[in-house]
Amino acid sequence: MGRHRGAGLGGGHDEREQTLNQLLVEMDGFESNEGVILIAATNRPDVLDPALLRPGRFDRRVVVSRPDVRGREEILRVHTRKIPVSDDVDLPVLARGTPGFSGADLANMVNEAALSAARQNRKTVLMWDFEQAKDKVLMGAERKSMLLSDEEKRVTAYHEAGHALVAAMREHSDPLHKVTIIPRGMALGVTMQLPIDDKHTYTRDYLETRLAIMMGGRVAEELFLNTMTTGAGNDIEQASDLARKMTCEFGMSSLGPITFGKKEEQIFLGREISQHRDFSEETAQKIDAEVRRFVDDGYNSARHILESNRPILETIAMALLEREVIDANEVQLIIEGKELPIKVNPNVPPPAKDDDVQQVLKPAPGQPNVAPGERPAQA
Ligand code: ZN
Repeated sequence: MGRHRGAGLGGGHDEREQTLNQLLVEMDGFESNEGVILIAATNRPDVLDPALLRPGRFDRRVVVSRPDVRGREEILRVHTRKIPVSDDVDLPVLARGTPGFSGADLANMVNEAALSAARQNRKTVLMWDFEQAKDKVLMGAERKSMLLSDEEKRVTAYHEAGHALVAAMREHSDPLHKVTIIPRGMALGVTMQLPIDDKHTYTRDYLETRLAIMMGGRVAEELFLNTMTTGAGNDIEQASDLARKMTCEFGMSSLGPITFGKKEEQIFLGREISQHRDFSEETAQKIDAEVRRFVDDGYNSARHILESNRPILETIAMALLEREVIDANEVQLIIEGKELPIKVNPNVPPPAKDDDVQQVLKPAPGQPNVAPGERPAQA
């Protein structure tokens, strides 16, 4: 309700604006010794009316960003308090494995883990349940009912293998997490990477690597199946967006550190409904050329990697067709030319470890250590 006044098409008698005016008047009525603290929250600080932010009104800002690794651990601790958690659940490990998760994502993950345990009539939630839940939150729910033809599966396997191999081979890329050809959400297959820790800035090397990884899927289709599919459409769209941002917003192209074009967010302010173009036709052509160059570089890098590692890509694609899901270790084994371990059924949790021994040796984090032989009461 604190939106910038005079924005949009309504006039000053807009009901929303009158509410804001009244709020400003009321806030000025507080005496400095009254001890009234007024707190408000917004997720659009950019459209706030400047009058709201003057001294004496909302004059301090506390930015609530996504939680860091310690924050995530504490949030997990809060949410797991109410569910019976098995001894093998290691919250610090989960916190480290979920960079970029918001508090709501973490709550969702704990909920999904509890559901997973309930579905199997288990009384405690295992670490395995949390791993399943993490993948569900990260990559979307598996759509096992969706039937793919053998040809579609084959194309998806090569496409994802292309992403995975480029991700594994390029420097500066986030480590692989999992590659799967089980449809999840809108995608037929997913290659998931997980950063090692929280990232706040991205280097140009990192972004160029991202472009190469995105192109890996299409390049694999071309090189190995001699075809092109619509499956790469989303990759191409994302790559084009990223390359344009690198040129127009991040100043990473040969055009130098200049931003081009006003951001679309301005439309919400209502100051300018049409997008403002602050560069000449000549510059527009240069921008297009730079965007193309970034994408082409990524494409060529992906092509080079896949062309010089043909047998490895074939093996990854075959492993995907056989197992449907392979993890980072398995990709690494294939790259090193080693045999993959026997496939374990991903739908069944690993056999329970000897709880009693573990309990004594390793108390759950945050819980008091227990004397040997003594079992703490647990649901
Ligand atoms: Zn793709």
